[in-house]
Amino acid sequence: MSVSEALATPVDELMDSMQWAPRNGFHIEPRCRVCRNDEALKKVNDLLAGGASYAMVLRALGEDNAVLDKCDRITLDSVRNHCVRHFPVQNVAKATYREILERRARENHVDFVEGVVNAITPLAFLETVLVKSYEHLVDSDTKVDVTTGIAAAGRLQSLIDSGDQGRDIAVLRTQVGQLADAVKSVVPRELWGAIVEKLDELEQLPQALDAGVDSFDDDDPYDPLEFAEADDEF
Ligand SMILES: [Zn+2]
Repeated sequence: MSVSEALATPVDELMDSMQWAPRNGFHIEPRCRVCRNDEALKKVNDLLAGGASYAMVLRALGEDNAVLDKCDRITLDSVRNHCVRHFPVQNVAKATYREILERRARENHVDFVEGVVNAITPLAFLETVLVKSYEHLVDSDTKVDVTTGIAAAGRLQSLIDSGDQGRDIAVLRTQVGQLADAVKSVVPRELWGAIVEKLDELEQLPQALDAGVDSFDDDDPYDPLEFAEADDEF
């Protein structure tokens, strides 16, 4: 911060930025009841990294809390504020996993504030495994063998192919629409009823339509009756 910036900054903001300065290389917040108690700080950070709910953290501090003055006693709000504001700065790596944990817990209505069990959900676990594996994977010392590489290539190809299938279906739907328009513009109107009847007949015989209607897994399947309902265009 330059001198001119400092002069333009309100005093309370300056105080805040000073309190964020590292002390012995470790960011702590003197006003935070967790940060200013060395023993509690380590315990709280370890428990948060391990997936404990805030209530569990608080319970684990029972004895530490009992001997503290009321103004120093750690509350649920102290744990929550510490977790949101200071834990990510003090534990950059583990904060990533805590973020996954709380996000997945929220999505799955698991209470990570008042909950009596830890906040770990299967999805959070799997996502953490994925992130951790990725960190290991991108490490320059990690070697990926050919078999694993081939397996990954196969998975990737099948994902790409399933994307293509979606496009193919979209193209097919457009073509069916064009076909319907062509039939309507060329075939005399008095024959449309016969076409609709034929389509109904084919629909009753699933084997007659190899593609099957099932492959159009969509909210708006192709409906042969559209022929009959589109009369007002003419
Ligand atoms: Zn804190």
